[in-house]
Amino acid sequence: MESTSSHDEKPRVLIIDDDALYLQIMTGALQDTCDVTVAKDPEQGWELATRKPFPDIILLDVVMPKISGHELCRKLKKHPLTFKIPVIFISALSNVEDKTKGFDLGAVDYVTKPIEVPVLKARVRNHIMLKLQQEMLEDLSAKDALTGLSNKRRYYEAIESEWKRASRADECLGLIVLDIDHFKKYNDSLGHGAGDMCLQKVASVIKQSVVRPGDLVARIGGEEFAVILPNSDIDATDIVANRIIQNINAAKIPHPKSKTADHITLSLGIASKKPSLEDSTRDLFHSADDALYKAKRNGRNQIKRAE
Ligand code: GH3
Ligand code: MG
Ligand code: MG
Repeated sequence: MESTSSHDEKPRVLIIDDDALYLQIMTGALQDTCDVTVAKDPEQGWELATRKPFPDIILLDVVMPKISGHELCRKLKKHPLTFKIPVIFISALSNVEDKTKGFDLGAVDYVTKPIEVPVLKARVRNHIMLKLQQEMLEDLSAKDALTGLSNKRRYYEAIESEWKRASRADECLGLIVLDIDHFKKYNDSLGHGAGDMCLQKVASVIKQSVVRPGDLVARIGGEEFAVILPNSDIDATDIVANRIIQNINAAKIPHPKSKTADHITLSLGIASKKPSLEDSTRDLFHSADDALYKAKRNGRNQIKRAE
């Protein structure tokens, strides 16, 4: 899921309360450290919570006319765009039942009215920090540490969800599997450190060759990469593969021991399928991977299409 915050900006706080005085008090408490947006009723709150830029945290009044804060929280926690945004309930109700109901609905905290400004500030700060740490962990666990590309775990998640999306939309899903040629010799002659640097360069060439925002480039093995191309038939997939092979040959990363060229080259296997009941993402991968090995056997530095 797309990250909702950026480290360069003030964290965004959305306050939803029908009481203008409380909106004013809370805004006053937080506006130095946060970018504050207010909503004076739940409908407006929902509007502001579900569109960009998404808030990093929501302060939500419990008792409001028409839709209660509890009701709105339930909706926010069900919606894919908002379920990760921490909600702090703000309420004059302070009995145990009311407080625990908020937690049961997925709120992270509960602040009682009248508001103690320093306490509110501290709680908001803590929850924003926790959210940023959480996002950082999610981000790290989806990325390959050496190249910064998506890792194998992210690749598996993405190909499954793109496969489902393609199935619903009745579209083709394209896949490129690529492998560096004679990379063992590169490591053996220039050392592992140079090998790592080479992997970073190759990753960046592949990344630059893939332009659509929905496309995903992943490092799925030591010197093996995959590119997922939503809504791409075999010809569209071939165009991207051609761009990659042209760019890697133009980069001319010297490879003194390659039998294919005097620089780093790639072999690519491509496949594209419209999801059907008989097929799975595994079939798509195997088709592309078989094609990759044909490219290897046929002399490397080339693209082969799946049969
Ligand atoms: P082919 O053209 O058939 O693909 O030959 P190859 O030498 O590239 O393939 P092989 O699978 O025999 O060797 C892959 C080599 O990639 C083994 C290892 O030296 C290197 N390698 C794999 N992962 C890494 C890595 O993280 N860093 C470095 N520096 N090298 C790696
Ligand atoms: Mg190789
Ligand atoms: Mg290999």
